[in-house]
Amino acid sequence: MPDRDAPNAGLLIDGARVPSASGATVPVRNPATGAVLAYVAQAGVEDAHSAVEAAQRSYAAGSWRRATVAERARVLLRLADLIRANAEELARLESSNVGKPIGESRGEIAMGADCFQFYAGQIPSFGGHTVPVSAPGTGLTFRESVGVCVLIVPWNFPFAITTWKVSPALAMGNSVVVKPASATPLSALRLGELALEAGLPPGVLNILPGPGGAVGTALVTHPAVRKISFTGSTEVGAGVMRLAADDIKRVSLELGGKSANIVFADADLAKAGAAIFSVFGNAGQDCCSRSRVLVERLVYNEFVERYVERTRALRIGDPLDDATEIGSLISPEHRAKVDAYVRKGVEQGAKLCIGGAIKRGGMYDAGSFYEPAVFADVTPDMVIAQEEIFGPVVSIIPFDSEEEAIKLANGSIYGLSGSLWTRDIGRALRVVRAVETGVISVNTGWSVHMEMPFGGVKRSGVGRELGPSALEHYSEQKSVFISDE
Ligand code: NAD
Repeated sequence: MPDRDAPNAGLLIDGARVPSASGATVPVRNPATGAVLAYVAQAGVEDAHSAVEAAQRSYAAGSWRRATVAERARVLLRLADLIRANAEELARLESSNVGKPIGESRGEIAMGADCFQFYAGQIPSFGGHTVPVSAPGTGLTFRESVGVCVLIVPWNFPFAITTWKVSPALAMGNSVVVKPASATPLSALRLGELALEAGLPPGVLNILPGPGGAVGTALVTHPAVRKISFTGSTEVGAGVMRLAADDIKRVSLELGGKSANIVFADADLAKAGAAIFSVFGNAGQDCCSRSRVLVERLVYNEFVERYVERTRALRIGDPLDDATEIGSLISPEHRAKVDAYVRKGVEQGAKLCIGGAIKRGGMYDAGSFYEPAVFADVTPDMVIAQEEIFGPVVSIIPFDSEEEAIKLANGSIYGLSGSLWTRDIGRALRVVRAVETGVISVNTGWSVHMEMPFGGVKRSGVGRELGPSALEHYSEQKSVFISDE
């Protein structure tokens, strides 16, 4: 799309698409082509305050907060249906804005719709209890909404992560301000429009694209905000936690990862060796990426060979082409960072078996395409084995015993996700218990399920998203005692 034809897109505050107070806009680009998709209003501090105040007004007015569970569930279900009715448009928007393969976007949009449906189904049974107490009377607990929640979203799964946060927050009756990453605000803005169409009262869901430093900080420190849910890098998350401390705001953090994929010699190697999307999905720009593959030495060479062959067959190309498996990275700057890690790996003596180069020629020159890199003979102390690269780069590391595998897996500041591959059920149970992580799967590279809690330990975060327990993060408990004396 030529730049002059790109539409202008406003912020969503109090139920209306509005320009920013300063009038500033930023071009939002398709990373695969460089084309401008839209000029999006860039929020500043004044807009952050307006959005929080709109959320606060809608919360105080109470039409959403005090709506019955059945009324809230109806709106959430209508929104799920509207997402499904517009799924292809949303998937194309997401792929165009993030550079990810259309097949991946379709899955993420479908999951977003399912999330609203899931929490609509959860709220009728999510309530308090009667509690036997050691005093004459009755103890009761209520589950109440928290108030204004700020939901901060990264650029790698803009729609999916927005829905993971928005659906339980709205289900509990809160009013929210979403801050998408500056580079990828389009699908969240569209979600906001669909929510209004579904009948959500104005001001309950505000969407505010803008720079993290200024707008994020203004949102996090606003005194009316009661809860912050942040997904992004560990460094920025730590800053958010510090800022939230002054007012004792509730915080949940979903942060970085460097997860392990542990392959024992008795595993189905064909399956384990083919599970390359657990690191190359979304071109490796995935917090769950199992970018350290630990392989029992007995099968190490055979495994590396399989992995390299499957990587060689990857189809890198136009994100909107159904056949594409690897799209574009988010930006040339991010690609340069990924490439610098690859150079560091080579310099430190790891063996680059395939890929690890900027993809050039034809359509590739307009985007930020990168050839997925497989490193063998990596030692655990190397930079590529320790730091989150957030790109299509995998380190394959040998081990000799179950104890060593666990030690290697836990030798990271992170603890988000992971997999292990074995046919020995006893070993599977021992290892899943021993690995320090929030999420782990056995004999598959996939571990995100809407119905199960998702989140990390150590520097991968605090709190959990998804699953019924996410409702706890968006509600407060109130204890009531009724004396019968
Ligand atoms: P980032 O930390 O740079 O930004 C995340 C969000 O925070 C963006 O919306 C950004 O604008 C905002 N932000 C930046 N500075 C801020 C500040 N001072 N105050 C408040 N908000 C601020 O992360 P990113 O580069 O967008 O995303 C990549 C990172 O996210 C990776 O580390 C990845 O592992 C992590 N991530 C984690 C999960 C998870 O569920 N654990 C999921 C996806 C991504």
